[in-house]
Amino acid sequence: MYSGGYMGKILRIDLSNQSAKEEVVSEELARNYLGGVGFAIKYLYDELRPGISALDKDNKLIFAVGPLTATGVSCTSRMAVASKSPLTNAMGAAFAGGYFPAEMKRAGYDMIIIEGKAEKPTYVAIKEGDVRFRSAEKLKGMITTDTQLFIKEELKDHNYRVACIGPAGEGLVPIACIINERRAAGRKGLGAVMGSKNLKAIAVRGVKKPAIADAAKFKEARQAMNWAMKESDVLYPKFSKAGTPMVVDKTSEMGIYSIKNWSATGEIDLVKEHGLDAQDAMIINKAYCADCPVGCSQVKLVNEGPFAGFLSEGPEFETTYSLGSAVGVTYLPAIIAGDRICDEYGIDTMSAGVTIGFAMELYERGILTKQDTDGLELKFGNYEAMIEMLRRIAYKEGFGAILCQGTKKAAEIIGKGSEKYAMHIKGLELPAYDVRGAKAHGLNYATAYTGADHNRGYAFQEIFGISIPEEVDRFAIKGKGKLTKWNQDVRCVVCDCSPICAFLLDMGLPEPFCQCAADLVAGATGMSLTEGEVQQIGERINNVARLFNGREGFTRKDDTFPERLMTEPIKAGASAGQLISQADLDEMLDEYYAARGWDKDGNPTPAKLKELGLAMHNRR
Ligand code: SF4
Repeated sequence: MYSGGYMGKILRIDLSNQSAKEEVVSEELARNYLGGVGFAIKYLYDELRPGISALDKDNKLIFAVGPLTATGVSCTSRMAVASKSPLTNAMGAAFAGGYFPAEMKRAGYDMIIIEGKAEKPTYVAIKEGDVRFRSAEKLKGMITTDTQLFIKEELKDHNYRVACIGPAGEGLVPIACIINERRAAGRKGLGAVMGSKNLKAIAVRGVKKPAIADAAKFKEARQAMNWAMKESDVLYPKFSKAGTPMVVDKTSEMGIYSIKNWSATGEIDLVKEHGLDAQDAMIINKAYCADCPVGCSQVKLVNEGPFAGFLSEGPEFETTYSLGSAVGVTYLPAIIAGDRICDEYGIDTMSAGVTIGFAMELYERGILTKQDTDGLELKFGNYEAMIEMLRRIAYKEGFGAILCQGTKKAAEIIGKGSEKYAMHIKGLELPAYDVRGAKAHGLNYATAYTGADHNRGYAFQEIFGISIPEEVDRFAIKGKGKLTKWNQDVRCVVCDCSPICAFLLDMGLPEPFCQCAADLVAGATGMSLTEGEVQQIGERINNVARLFNGREGFTRKDDTFPERLMTEPIKAGASAGQLISQADLDEMLDEYYAARGWDKDGNPTPAKLKELGLAMHNRR
């Protein structure tokens, strides 16, 4: 039995009748799913009706933290937010740091499950077992910074931490996100699920602390992790100062920083103003998540020009891509302004930018005209049009009502062969890494349970040359199936369940990942777990997510790429000539399914389900 780490409680909130009840985190749940996204996926699989509309009141929205959150282990104020996604109709899980996750745990809960739909706009304030349902009528249409401030004022306590939606979530925009401070649970449209429940915000406050089961063991494991962080020649010397924009320079060098809706990858002269030198010049401060000594988020201010006065915590690497290179915008102040605007309206920067980039390519090809775009000249590089389109997406205005649905649905509505230029997998817009030049990254995009999601199985081996578990050739096809399974399972359990910030993993910390997580969890909770058992938890969760998607109709044919990636080689730069043909993809999928113990169609076999203790889920 666990005797620490967890608060041991799940809070189940029913908005329809404004009630809340507490449930116990069972020993079985803790051992088999560890926490965070593991808990959320298990509950969504068990409790959601197959085929349910993501915006149905019976869909559930789950916030979950892990056994290390709020224990003082570095970089563990992380949470999973999960639901059936209105953007993809698959398992939707988004992840965020900040102060909300640690505060939620201190308020007494490992997981909060939101059910039903409030009759009127509502926010929920949770303070150590006391759950209040409050009117959000005055907050209707409010941007996210003001929403957080208003709630803190109304509750007369600025120590509350607030996760909220902006106008886009209220308007059920399928690419809406959930914001706490300036951190976004960004992808998969979970802000729209929150909006569909008439839930403007959740505020949490608490001073409880999880017990530590074995103080000596915990201290030793924690010190080992801190020591490894200190010893790293990247984490503090570089990453802490520059943050994720470091990756702009890296991927540009490698020729895999995607440019102009993936049509001009490798033409790095187009994006030299996105690099570290330009970004560093605009930093005025840094921002931290709770319990993090790294503080990778750089606060940047625009000092002059049309966007003077705009300030953002970022732009992070992926936003520099989506509101920059994907739309051919080189002017960094416009990217900073776009980043802030997305946060305030509550839309995902990645899906918004990639969808606008898609529309820009259609415009340049003559598939869209000025008449279609309500007079906007949607050409690559036109940052004024991009900024205006972000507003129209958030408010579903004119052509914005089409683009707000993401690239997949927008292409279905526009037709005229536009699907060819829609850069998505399973309905989720592609991240920045042009996977034609990084094949394990590609296989992860194709198979991640959330769609094209770099963070579900990030192949740091290919990007940073880290030889864990082995050295890899980024252009090779062979071996990528096995590697992708390893990346997905390890990242799932270490980063999305325990949860240690994924940026550490990308730098090879704390290594060996599953053993370090096992030691920390054992010290905090008292549960003894082997390295192998920890890794198997990640595998179990990926299998349950696959079963969830399978019953929603996803099959092998959905584990694929946009046509461009399979037919057009990268034209310039260090990855010129690279693509992933259908034969390459088939070879990688066959190897991946075999490594996973799935059949040729990508279904978990009865034997695999039995091995993972999931035999009851065998539907064949
Ligand atoms: S490294 Fe960055 S994202 Fe990770 S916990 Fe620290 S501040 Fe947050």
